[in-house]
Amino acid sequence: MAKTGFIGLGIMGKPMAKNLIKAGYDLIVYDVAEQPLKEVADAGAQAAGSIAEVAQNADVIVTMLPNSPHVKEVVLGGGGVLENAKEGTIIVDMSSISPVATKEIAAECAKKSVVMLDAPVSGGEPKAIEGTLAIMAGGDEAAFKKVEKMLHCMGSSAILVGEVGSGNVTKLANQIIVAANIAGMSEAMVLASKSGVDPEKVYNAIRGGLAGSTVLDAKMPLVLEGNFKPGFRIELHIKDLQNVLDAAGVTQCEVPITSEIIGMMKELREDGKGQDDHGGLIQYYEKKSGVQCRKK
Ligand code: NAD
Repeated sequence: MAKTGFIGLGIMGKPMAKNLIKAGYDLIVYDVAEQPLKEVADAGAQAAGSIAEVAQNADVIVTMLPNSPHVKEVVLGGGGVLENAKEGTIIVDMSSISPVATKEIAAECAKKSVVMLDAPVSGGEPKAIEGTLAIMAGGDEAAFKKVEKMLHCMGSSAILVGEVGSGNVTKLANQIIVAANIAGMSEAMVLASKSGVDPEKVYNAIRGGLAGSTVLDAKMPLVLEGNFKPGFRIELHIKDLQNVLDAAGVTQCEVPITSEIIGMMKELREDGKGQDDHGGLIQYYEKKSGVQCRKK
């Protein structure tokens, strides 16, 4: 019986693959890095020696890679998925990439009767581990129905939003909202600190009101501890916001908040903080204002 393929076993892909193994999927996996490949093999998957080996042995292939160039290389490159996949294979790209690139890759796949869905996720590493990600998908409905059950082993919701590329448009919308929340939280807490008010008390006073949010509750306790271990790296959020700017360019859409925040994140990257969690955006404000929002 054909297996399910999984390529890209990083912060997100590794726990997602492990959840598929737990749910009984017969997995064949690949990553260029040896360590996660071994770890997922130890959890019960077959470790492949190449992308080609995954493609030849699977009828559904999940990809969880950093960005558009990686997905293009893995799917369309020499020795890649498309060169080796059987007709009717379904590729479920769960990476967050440019919707423009998704459409290009899906069009190439369609020429060889391979269907590609985009199904990026929100929720980060903790929800990837719990199997409670929010999954936003785009593409052919019949193909989506075939993989829906599998998606529910990794996420608590899996919604088909529209045609291929719509999943990544939805993810970009998600990333604008998350970035704007973190920036708003940072601006507010630095103002409080600068005004001599304890940011921890401000957080506790406002979290139950309208300003309360999933982002505030996920990020503010970490900020108070000065813990910027990723999580979701600033580097990856810059990538997503760059994809917002690209998509906005194509659709001629104004995105002033995105433009502002990407500038802050790039400055932090220049300061050597690109690998910090995106909650570390507050360090931009802290540096400019000369205060820190930590537990007293
Ligand atoms: P990551 O960098 O930890 O993992 C990517 C993995 O892909 C790595 O293990 C890498 O070795 C592998 N890889 C790269 N090129 C490859 C190739 N050519 N062949 C095989 N493997 C290859 O990234 P991540 O944090 O797991 O994120 C993956 C995707 O999920 C990104 O698009 C990211 O934006 C998105 N995402 C991440 C989070 C998060 O909190 N980390 C949350 C939601 C969505």
